[in-house]
Amino acid sequence: MAVEHAYGRFPDVRYHNNQHAADVLYSTQCLLRHPKVRCNLTKLEIISTLIAATLHDIQHPGLDSGFLVATGHDLSLTYNDKSILENHHASFGFRVMKNPTCDILSQMSTDDRKECRKMVIAMILSTDMSAHFGGVMEFEQLVRHKRTPSSSSSDSATDSTRADKTLDGFSSKEVRTLLTSVLHCADLGACTKSWDYSKRWSFRVLGEFWQQGDKEKQKGLPVGPLNDRDKTNIPRSQINFINIIVKPLWECWNQYIGEESVQVNNLLSNHDRWSAVAEEEEAFPREMCPTVRAVEDKEENLDKNLNHSKLNAKPTISNPELVSNGRVATTFHNDGKTTQKRQTVKKLKTTPRIGRKNKIQSTCV
Ligand SMILES: [Zn+2]
Repeated sequence: MAVEHAYGRFPDVRYHNNQHAADVLYSTQCLLRHPKVRCNLTKLEIISTLIAATLHDIQHPGLDSGFLVATGHDLSLTYNDKSILENHHASFGFRVMKNPTCDILSQMSTDDRKECRKMVIAMILSTDMSAHFGGVMEFEQLVRHKRTPSSSSSDSATDSTRADKTLDGFSSKEVRTLLTSVLHCADLGACTKSWDYSKRWSFRVLGEFWQQGDKEKQKGLPVGPLNDRDKTNIPRSQINFINIIVKPLWECWNQYIGEESVQVNNLLSNHDRWSAVAEEEEAFPREMCPTVRAVEDKEENLDKNLNHSKLNAKPTISNPELVSNGRVATTFHNDGKTTQKRQTVKKLKTTPRIGRKNKIQSTCV
């Protein structure tokens, strides 16, 4: 509850909120349960990874480190511009656990506690995107050096301590690489979900970027290409993100487990769907693109539901689909010009002038 409350303290954070934490925690435990991962880990390593997943974005302000540096934010001063957010998440997470009622490490031995803290901090710091390419390289090296994996159901995780070498002969350092890679895969796992979920996560993260872009415009700061709601090419941004960032990482995962994963299959499928949307957008303006419109309308309705339910209840992670803290669709209405466009589009969508409408909707929405 304390952790969820800490994530919920920024109700306008569109993406890095309690739902993202729940999603990453769930995805992490799925990956950890794979026999070829589990057989190399101790219980302490598994627990530490789950704690890191839970805390990895706690108290995220919905702003990136570049913005915090540019505006001289307190967090950038505290952490001297180095992995500002990740340092804050790790620090704040352990402050939460300092409360005796939240100290889930209290039953551990002193040595295990120390080791757990060390691993959690290292894993949270590794989620800094500036470490992404180095992390993928280390994961690739681990895959290359990996001995023939055991498909045995032998569960070395039943021991709280283990020898230096694991079932696959990993050193402690290589185990750390495996753990950070698992967490990083889960953290970048939104576009490995089914199309409907993936698409909505994409709009949420863009919504968060655009909220920052609005602030940058207000402050006269340079606005990044993904932070400008008027200039972002939505499908191309997703295609590039998949090609450059997500796919190389998840292909390593496939190589590690030695089989095709449903996540990578989803990723490739979503890539193709975004390519189809890109073709839509090249044929029509963004506000007329059926995929974009469908998501905006859905998110807008969720926001309305949330505003209504807020009168009686706090948001909960028990049903993520019904909880929405941000305003990506709402911000599309912030100026009269945009609102006018949307009204016009609604009208256009019903006119027979858009000959490809039915085909596109059935293909991409
Ligand atoms: Zn995250």
